Amino acid sequence: MSERFLIRGASVEGGAIRDIRVEGTTIVEVGAGLDAAGARVIDADGLIALPGLVDLHTHLREPGYEASETILTGTRAAAAGGFTAVFAMPNTSPVADTAGVVEQELALGLAAGYATVQPIGAVTVGQQGERLAELGAMARSRANVRVFSDDGFCVWDPLIMRRALEYVKSFGGVVAQHAQDPRLTEGAQMNEGSVSAELGLAGWPAVAEESIIARDVLLAEHVGSRLHVCHLSTAGSVDIIRWAKARGINVTAEVTPHHLLLTDELVRGYDARYKVNPPLRREEDVLAVRAGLADGTIDIVATDHAPHPAEAKSCEWQAAANGMVGLESAVHIVQRVMVDEGLLSWADVARVMSRTPARIGGLATHGTPISAGAPAEITLYDPSGSRVFGTADLHGRSHDSPYLGTSLPGRVVTTMHDGYLTLDDGVLVDAETVAAHAARVATHRVGQSGAAPGARV
Ligand SMILES: [Zn+2]
Repeated sequence: MSERFLIRGASVEGGAIRDIRVEGTTIVEVGAGLDAAGARVIDADGLIALPGLVDLHTHLREPGYEASETILTGTRAAAAGGFTAVFAMPNTSPVADTAGVVEQELALGLAAGYATVQPIGAVTVGQQGERLAELGAMARSRANVRVFSDDGFCVWDPLIMRRALEYVKSFGGVVAQHAQDPRLTEGAQMNEGSVSAELGLAGWPAVAEESIIARDVLLAEHVGSRLHVCHLSTAGSVDIIRWAKARGINVTAEVTPHHLLLTDELVRGYDARYKVNPPLRREEDVLAVRAGLADGTIDIVATDHAPHPAEAKSCEWQAAANGMVGLESAVHIVQRVMVDEGLLSWADVARVMSRTPARIGGLATHGTPISAGAPAEITLYDPSGSRVFGTADLHGRSHDSPYLGTSLPGRVVTTMHDGYLTLDDGVLVDAETVAAHAARVATHRVGQSGAAPGARV
């Protein structure tokens, strides 16, 4: 028996105040003064309704690194952050480079039920950079993989990159590049610049990112394929993407919330929470990526949520792992640096955190504007007020957030995935209830269409 909801008086994407009626897995009516007619009423006075947020860059760590995160814990973090879909990076153990592994991830995501888990396939076997993985088999699998990445590593060999771009063309896929020249960044500990010189730490120069992006946009143009640039972090990278788009090259780019806010000055305290790859850059770079996101050069915000076991981060800087968690804080950082600064509207947030990431990743069930007939993937957000972000706000296995103890604006109030609640008035719905809803929806969907779970609609 499916629940019915009437969301009362939400500001749709920050605009008109509307009621939203949900039945089953679908938004059936959007209008003013709708009759509750027995549905559960959610009072959304003062709240913004966004299409459920979509993260194109999440590390869920399962299979293989369950001490860092699992598909269940990572998607609980996602739901708490307002996300209804996450794309799972393939640097698991085994690496997600076969149909078997991506189908396993898909099944675990469906069983947990907190969000759509869309696997990303590895570009090369074992992410070793030597031979192309079975891209076609992953694309044809039940996981319908459309995004391929060796994230964590750069697809450095230009011939392998060219072949990957050529191969994904046949099924409308995209190669998502972690742009990092490995030779130029050997032993790197932080951004190369005045701070690294002062601290005596080996630098990760901007040119190591920019030279790979420049090469790859030209390769994408040459083969007529589609490139996505992960976690772009420098002013020069923004210039290259701007140039490539003006030239008509089919490229999209993402920026992380941390690269929109934090700088390499923070490394001075040697707090490993700030150790991330690509590294935190200079103030000029932060301002350039904000401007790039505001003018559309950068297409989306993606978290690069990268949890690690505590011992991998609570050690000296040089030995610490790269990565920080980001799902629970992402929309708050975007509000603070972009919306509250007048650089993006809430409709723009819907675009850069839902519509466009869903489109880049080929996920038709997400990113649809809130309207009759759209899938019931909805985030209700309260932009007023602020609170001190703490460990109680983190729901994954790692607490390595750079924002602990700092004041962040806004609150994710409700997350609705597939027509049921995963976050209810700021509280995560328990795992058993969510899994039961997910099982009910899956059974209903198979009965209705005969489609396999995870199939695109
Ligand atoms: Zn990466």
